[in-house]
Amino acid sequence: MRFFESEDVLVPERLFRKGEFFAKSKYEISGQAKRIFAVEKIPAQSLDQDFPYNRDLQRLLSGRVLLLEEVPFPLESIHEHVEHGYIRYEKGIDVDRDGMYCRRCQNREVHLFGRFHCARCGEECVYCRRCIMMGRVSQCSPLVRWTGPEPVFSYPDALRWEGQLSIAQGEAARRIVEAIEKKTDLLIWAVCGAGKTEMLFPGIACALQAGLRLAIATPRTDVVLELAPRLQQVFPDVPVAALYAGSGDRYKFSPLTITTTHQLLRFHDAFDVMIIDEVDAFPYAADEMLQKAAEKARKRNSALIFLTATPEETWQRECLTGKRNCYILPARFHQHPLPIPRFIWCGNWRKALTKKRIPLPVRTWVQERLAIEKQALIFFPDVELMERTLPLFHEFHPDIASVHAEDPERKEKVQAMREGRIPILLTTTILERGVTIPNIDVAVVGAEDETFTESALVQIAGRVGRSPAYPTGDIAFFHYGKSRAMVRAKEQLRRMNEEALRRGLIDYDW
Ligand SMILES: [Zn+2]
Ligand SMILES: [Zn+2]
Repeated sequence: MRFFESEDVLVPERLFRKGEFFAKSKYEISGQAKRIFAVEKIPAQSLDQDFPYNRDLQRLLSGRVLLLEEVPFPLESIHEHVEHGYIRYEKGIDVDRDGMYCRRCQNREVHLFGRFHCARCGEECVYCRRCIMMGRVSQCSPLVRWTGPEPVFSYPDALRWEGQLSIAQGEAARRIVEAIEKKTDLLIWAVCGAGKTEMLFPGIACALQAGLRLAIATPRTDVVLELAPRLQQVFPDVPVAALYAGSGDRYKFSPLTITTTHQLLRFHDAFDVMIIDEVDAFPYAADEMLQKAAEKARKRNSALIFLTATPEETWQRECLTGKRNCYILPARFHQHPLPIPRFIWCGNWRKALTKKRIPLPVRTWVQERLAIEKQALIFFPDVELMERTLPLFHEFHPDIASVHAEDPERKEKVQAMREGRIPILLTTTILERGVTIPNIDVAVVGAEDETFTESALVQIAGRVGRSPAYPTGDIAFFHYGKSRAMVRAKEQLRRMNEEALRRGLIDYDW
């Protein structure tokens, strides 16, 4: 899109193509229309307090930064708000002393900018390739931001929940409330099965009462889909928005937004409380863009709360040495200790499997589970090896199945597992998180493989013993030489149990 520069406001060229607007136009236009990139300084309008602004537009745009085509309002109406200081156009692609950058995702890497012949401006247009999956930001794309007043809300006593927090959950909840009130950073390091959703409730309730806007961001869409209805249920009067690629809630204003970290790119200075769940999970931890997106989406003066069961090594150190404001929740909500993995040497498993032989210790382990009819997950380091191995397992039981990330029947198979129709499920690391089956054992074949990081192994072990009815189970790490990650994972789980015992959070010794 192109703009005319007139006195102190930018006027979209497109408005002049419409005869009517032109007829009643009050603008003195001189010169050529330009791409927004070429405009030297974008004028700032002062806020006209008397302007009857559109509340829907306010709710849509508040805290957001959107492409013009993402704003489902007529350009005339948007422009009127620009004139009265309620909306500001910004350059999508800008340039400063350090070079070109994308204002949406902060990309500055030259090789992540592309060039194309742009039909919209009719010129060679530079665009950002890094955030292209959210729609193209190019030199002729204005980004739209709300500069008017924020929506005001308050939901006193919004929480409708009859449940009870365990002692440890209660402590964590108090720390969360405190971080929200003081607007500080906090890391909650809570073991798998600690019940972290519930411990957020008091903090969320207190923020909603104070009229603070919250986001819970997570790298995984699955988590958004699970968390949003759960929160809507306990905060029935609060509009909860669930944001992920293709979500229907895109244009909804919400005091409580559950979102993938990617969708945070569409926000700016929006949130008073930012909660990042599974901060260690791919791709947030590895992706600097998402970390910056979270920074940009929260207000400068805001609370930042991280939730994780498996913080990376540097964070662990910072927590243990008191350098990071952290609360460690070492016990599950059912107050039984965490099951500890066993290391079992199984020889050269890769060679054996390639030759279509299952190493004897693995074979024995499988037969034992089948004999006592206990369900199990067996993790493999790669899909190919797993698929090749599946027929060998069929000799033990015809219903043993396998699942991997691209498996079209992934959901059905997990469901079948939950319903007990599959005795043993072979899997890659995709099931390391989120899957809860009440009474299972797990094994890892090739636990020393580099796919199995410390955090992956802790998560895998975390599948076992989650239900109060079945708080124990077997975790077998089959290996051909222990890895550092294996040793650290086991150490971490042991330390959690010791800590839980010391603080009286678990019932008995293990
Ligand atoms: Zn970008
Ligand atoms: Zn263009």
